[in-house]
Amino acid sequence: MNPVPTPAPGPGPAARPGEHAPINWLTTSVFTLTPLAALVLVPWYGVSQGFGGWAWASLVLFLFACGLSITVGYHRLWSHQAFQAHVAVRWVLAVFGAMALQNSILIWASQHRRHHLHVDDVDRDPYSARRGFWFSHMGWILRDYPSSRNDFSNARDLERDPVVAFQHRHYLALALGTNFGFPLALGWAVGDVWGVFLLGGLLRLVLNHHFTWFINSLAHMWGSQPYTDENTARDNPLMAFLTYGEGYHNFHHIFQNDYRNGVKWWQYDPTKWLIAALSWVGLASNLKRVPDLWIRRAQVAMQFKRTEHALAQRQARAGDEQLERARARLAEEYAAFREALDDWSRVREQWLADRRQRLLQKWEEASFRRRLGQIETALRLQQRRLRAMSRAYAAT
Ligand SMILES: [Zn+2]
Ligand SMILES: [Zn+2]
Repeated sequence: MNPVPTPAPGPGPAARPGEHAPINWLTTSVFTLTPLAALVLVPWYGVSQGFGGWAWASLVLFLFACGLSITVGYHRLWSHQAFQAHVAVRWVLAVFGAMALQNSILIWASQHRRHHLHVDDVDRDPYSARRGFWFSHMGWILRDYPSSRNDFSNARDLERDPVVAFQHRHYLALALGTNFGFPLALGWAVGDVWGVFLLGGLLRLVLNHHFTWFINSLAHMWGSQPYTDENTARDNPLMAFLTYGEGYHNFHHIFQNDYRNGVKWWQYDPTKWLIAALSWVGLASNLKRVPDLWIRRAQVAMQFKRTEHALAQRQARAGDEQLERARARLAEEYAAFREALDDWSRVREQWLADRRQRLLQKWEEASFRRRLGQIETALRLQQRRLRAMSRAYAAT
């Protein structure tokens, strides 16, 4: 589908190899004509005929069905193997995923795995945010760039999945069949063919596209970095709202195999809730979660970086005695941090070893749990102290 292009020499010194890759007329037509058609036809029909309740309901219904098939299926299941799903679930995800018109699972997941492996690399990340908003949002799809050509060497496991293989072989028929068939069938059943087709078919498709693409563009540019600053990924609750929880992208890039993106219980992540619900009824299993301590360790490490940065900036302005004390305190905090991590590993190893030998009584289990909980609480408090410290020094 993406032939290997011959990179043409660029006109300016800033041109990168492949920057002037040949236009892909199929994707360019689809991704410019569908928004244009939605922009003209939806308001025109809304004003002249008006949309009924079923048309609006079909928009929400298909938006969630297709969007969640991408996030639960294409992304967390097939790209990251964050859980395992019953074959019936895989079929539903594959069909509604095809309806989202974002290429086959095999192509999507293989490109996405490269995105994680080479994140921000301008030549190897298919939608590197370092190539700008436009490129990472949709520019990368409109031309046949070398960075996004098909290479399934990182997706052999997916080639062996019969659902993935079937969807890849019959992608065009599935994509066309679902995009025309489902809205037309629902529209016919409720007696509003045009209303449902325009909202549940056309507008839904355009929204699905841009909401997903926001993850590659805005969620790599706008938001906070609580877990890592080693790549451009950000946590952004607004993006999470539009993308069924995928906007907690900073967390996702450091712990990509966790089935959650919004890791805190209160963070809006319908994708994780759906996966959890599927597991309660036996349709999903092996949900992967990184240990809480790893998450806390990443947060505290980031907080150390921020505090060090605040101190360094303060020093650049003027050295003083207070700063020396702050430095000494930071060194003490760092020693405590290392000690807590060592402690945690030691206690956990002992716990696992005793468990393997089945030596543990119930009360001993509880005491191990309590000890680990205490270490985690100490780290949480340390994170708070460091945050206060970095704020104080950044403010003065
Ligand atoms: Zn990303
Ligand atoms: Zn991912």
